Amino acid sequence: MTQANGYAATAADAPLAPFHFERRALREHDVAIDILYCGVCHSDLHTARGDWAGTIYPSLPGHEIVGRVSEVHPSVTRYKAGDIVAVGCMVDSCRECRECTAGFEQHCLNGATFTYNSPDRQTGDITLGGYSDHIVVREEFVLRVPDSLDPAAAAPLLCAGITTWSPLSRFKIGPGMKVGVAGLGGLGHMGVKFAAAMGAEVVMITTSPEKGEDARRLGAHDVLISTDKAAMAEARSSFDFILNTIPVGHDLHPYLGLLRREGVMIIVGAVEPLPPVHGGALIMGDKMVGGSLIGGIPATQEMLDFCGEKGVVADIEIIPIQQINEAWERMQKSDVKYRFVIDMASLREERAAA
Ligand code: NAP
Ligand code: ZN
Ligand code: ZN
Repeated sequence: MTQANGYAATAADAPLAPFHFERRALREHDVAIDILYCGVCHSDLHTARGDWAGTIYPSLPGHEIVGRVSEVHPSVTRYKAGDIVAVGCMVDSCRECRECTAGFEQHCLNGATFTYNSPDRQTGDITLGGYSDHIVVREEFVLRVPDSLDPAAAAPLLCAGITTWSPLSRFKIGPGMKVGVAGLGGLGHMGVKFAAAMGAEVVMITTSPEKGEDARRLGAHDVLISTDKAAMAEARSSFDFILNTIPVGHDLHPYLGLLRREGVMIIVGAVEPLPPVHGGALIMGDKMVGGSLIGGIPATQEMLDFCGEKGVVADIEIIPIQQINEAWERMQKSDVKYRFVIDMASLREERAAA
């Protein structure tokens, strides 16, 4: 066991506060990682606030982790002390089922072990995430960070990056396609960057007109304000694909109307009930709506390597961990440009001063 420090919520209505706990001693294939940076995902907030059923308290979120390997179990072959590595939304899975062996560990038929709020496969202890000074993870779930990437700006690739990369590559987004990205937050801004890097014509679909200039800087060719009825009507039947990152349940019809024949909309944001959809909105135009959950480990490494080659990282605002509650409040007001990343040196300094 090692002594660990982090920030956790003890109840749905409690702010995140300093929390002391233990990390397991290294088991076979385990890698111990000193966390340097951890991105702040809206799922962290949803989980700790109890928006989704099943939160176990204390809840210690964080699944966009970049750190330095401090120690490895002698059985580890892939990493050594000193390596700069990353951990995303999963820390284990059965590694044997059809989905795991195909590289879709997030859909493990025996249940993936997520980085937080998930029972450990051996002890049943609930996993505690990256808002902490170190973490212990099986080597198969540790990713390599290309040297060319800034470690802080690379952290959000581990969830916002892979979650948007995965459906864009599944639907073979490329030149000649018109792609809309709905919601310019952490996921949305990565979606815009990836779709543009893949060669598509990209339109940012936003509720915030003031984000238009940023959207263009991120790679969008055009901006569509979803609350502007005339502009939405003009854009009808023109999109091949829409990546929908809106974090709450919402009426899909205005977005379905934007799709052209055989257009596809993939929902990644609303992990909650959506209002009823009229069958006609899908039947007329042969349209499809689907979903996508993060991405598997091989796809995550592929995405990181792509980012290393093309120099793609997130646009971040670095915060000390002591400002995490304010950051969450701002995230709830859609006031994020475009991902908060916690500098974990702030946690070490706080502990050293205590
Ligand atoms: P975020 O940074 O808060 O961004 C969400 C954006 O959606 C906001 O910036 C805002 O953009 C827009 N928005 C917010 N409320 C809205 C509303 N009521 N109607 C229309 N648009 C609204 O969140 P995130 O970290 O990108 O996460 C987005 C969602 O994805 C969360 O629910 C998260 O839990 C989920 N998620 C899913 C997966 C997965 O595997 N599927 C993985 C990670 C996260 P504008 O100002 O541009 O309108
Ligand atoms: Zn996430
Ligand atoms: Zn499995």
